Amino acid sequence: MNEYDLIIVGGGPIGLACAIEAQKKNLKYLIIEKGAIVNSIFNYPLYMTFFSTAERLEIGDIPFNCLAPKPGRQEALEYYRNIHRYFKFSIHLFEKVSQVKKLENKQFEVVTNKNIYLSKNVIIATGFYDIPIQMNVIGEELPKVRHYYKEAHEYAFRNILVVGANNSSVDAALECWRKGANVTMVIRKNEINNRVKYWVKPDIENRIAEGSIKAYFESNITEIHENEVEIETPNGKVVIENDFVLALTGYKPDLTFLEKMGIQLSEDELKTPSYNPETMETNVEGLFLAGVVCGGMQTHKWFIENSRVHASLIVDHISSK
Ligand code: FAD
Repeated sequence: MNEYDLIIVGGGPIGLACAIEAQKKNLKYLIIEKGAIVNSIFNYPLYMTFFSTAERLEIGDIPFNCLAPKPGRQEALEYYRNIHRYFKFSIHLFEKVSQVKKLENKQFEVVTNKNIYLSKNVIIATGFYDIPIQMNVIGEELPKVRHYYKEAHEYAFRNILVVGANNSSVDAALECWRKGANVTMVIRKNEINNRVKYWVKPDIENRIAEGSIKAYFESNITEIHENEVEIETPNGKVVIENDFVLALTGYKPDLTFLEKMGIQLSEDELKTPSYNPETMETNVEGLFLAGVVCGGMQTHKWFIENSRVHASLIVDHISSK
């Protein structure tokens, strides 16, 4: 009953793309997703705009209609929900995979919080958005410190410190400032990250230049207290009043989860998982990686538009076996 040709762990865009390919090849498959469908996108900031144009987020050759060239979160949720309506995936939502174990008969045992399944092949498409990278500073555990940003209203008319200078930090800083927050940024390097969306970068640079948003470059936050934060700057320690810290310092994939399945990771700080780029098969036969998780700590290497292709690479290989 619970035996499959293929189990796909993760119902993000790439997990869904894998399911479309499996469906085309008549494989008996199941997607297991620990949250809602496309759960990472569901958890994005409410008013974010993708850096990709709509057609580059398409899967299964289904057009993504969008009035503006770049869609936002709401339109992407609409699109991927419609993808499910169209393909009628075999999917279990709100079910978390805790373990994937290879048995002696070469099948995989996939253990979740609800059930145990057997499958000849498993794809791990678990993304990177569940584990925030910690700053490891005093006071990080305070409830006023947030590693995810949803919307600005809560921060209006308050003193906000935004840590980082990537897309998430810059979007949050600008949005909060426009809703009336007093925003300070703490940036490790001496400039705004070059990966910041090209139409947003001048906006943040101009707000900093005119002094609307205060920025400490080449600086680090060192201590967080109830009403203030300490920042180490090139000119010495600075203490400023503070109500909230938005520590948007990036996220990382669950590497322990991969290692527990026997997937080898590179020994350097990049922790790149071992896989064959032609088939996406890992060092464990029958166990595949797809999507952003393939990059290990290089979470900017893979995104939707350049990893959609993983789906056909994997499923073509499985069906040729
Ligand atoms: P995800 O979408 O992260 O999907 C992984 C899924 O696996 C999640 O739904 C998660 O809940 C599930 N999961 C994890 N662990 C388990 C488990 N143990 N059991 C069951 N389910 C599990 N990319 C672009 O291409 N263009 C953009 O414009 C873009 N903008 C972005 C903006 C923001 C704010 C962020 C954070 C990222 C952006 N990205 C963008 C990157 C984007 O998140 C990824 O490209 C995309 O989500 C990758 O898809 P995925 O299916 O590999 O992973």
